[in-house]
Amino acid sequence: MIFKYAGIETELEDHDCPHCGKPMEAWLAPPDSGWGVVLVCYNNECPHYKDSDKDIVNKRDDCTLGCRYALNPDNGYKPFNLVAMCF
Ligand SMILES: [Zn+2]
Repeated sequence: MIFKYAGIETELEDHDCPHCGKPMEAWLAPPDSGWGVVLVCYNNECPHYKDSDKDIVNKRDDCTLGCRYALNPDNGYKPFNLVAMCF
């Protein structure tokens, strides 16, 4: 896929989430995260995401907090957990 931000086009490999099989989407991480563009599985039904919330301590009940499956293209498409809130 081609991901465009701030007038810069970045070519990213197409990846499907290994947990749910959905195509992953490009997301530009906040500058203070230290990441650039990452690939994220945004599927709310993804087993990886749904199973993650019980691993989070002190989770607020009124907030959907979980770890989405993500890949970092800057790091050889290495998988990591992106903690996501209130989507
Ligand atoms: Zn998934």
